[in-house]
Amino acid sequence: QNALYIVPTPIGNMDDITFRACDVLKKADVICAEDTRHSLPLLESIGVKSPKLISFHDHNETEKADKITAIIEEGNSVALISDAGTPMVSDPGYHLVAACVNKGIMVYPLPGACAAITALCSSGMPSDRFSFEGFLPVKEKALHDKLRSLLEEERTMIFYEAPRRIFDTAKALGAVFGDRKVMVARELTKTFETKYYTTCNHLAEELEKDPNVQKGEMVIVLAPYRKKENDNAIPSEAKKLIDILSGELP
Ligand code: SAM
Repeated sequence: QNALYIVPTPIGNMDDITFRACDVLKKADVICAEDTRHSLPLLESIGVKSPKLISFHDHNETEKADKITAIIEEGNSVALISDAGTPMVSDPGYHLVAACVNKGIMVYPLPGACAAITALCSSGMPSDRFSFEGFLPVKEKALHDKLRSLLEEERTMIFYEAPRRIFDTAKALGAVFGDRKVMVARELTKTFETKYYTTCNHLAEELEKDPNVQKGEMVIVLAPYRKKENDNAIPSEAKKLIDILSGELP
């Protein structure tokens, strides 16, 4: 059928691809992939023979969206995959789906692997309401500002983080959130899957104990804000000021 299919791929364990995802990828006339060379071994392993691949990434997404919708309108089925997990979750795809919706092209999203949901499920944090925050800012001030803006967020928060940034982020989390519960999930679904359950002010030292911590990908899950009894005594503006000031302490 001429339509766009959004197809999740594994985030580590190759068995985490669904029967339906394999079927859609085998039947697709065209597969759009973030990094075509990266995706070829996966496609070959599920029996997709000589796929017609189009590279589709952050830098060419808007310009390619028109080309791809034209291909679908000519009667083809197109599958969108990313390097890992669900396309559009901190991955390209949004402009393409918006273009399809605008042109009345059918979009079929397949359920599948996603690091954010996988991490949430092992976090022990409330899962009835959560906020996916994607990647945090890199610059120190922007990072602290962003974290402070989430101080009274009443939903569990999920962040993606690069291993080389984890210590800076862990220290910033400690400065802003103090004894708030936090969980870091590393290498989910892979052989060396590791979870660190601690509080923000102990996160950096907890991670430092593991010599392998800077290897592999990670997700941070942060507990929601809970109003404490004695919080009523301190107005929230004053509390924010205290948090800002304590963030400046060495
Ligand atoms: N679209 C993907 C998804 O559905 O999860 C996410 C893509 S984003 C570019 C990559 C980030 O996802 C990594 O930096 C890391 O934060 C997280 N991630 C992906 N795979 C992971 C894994 N196996 N374990 C922990 N985190 C992972």
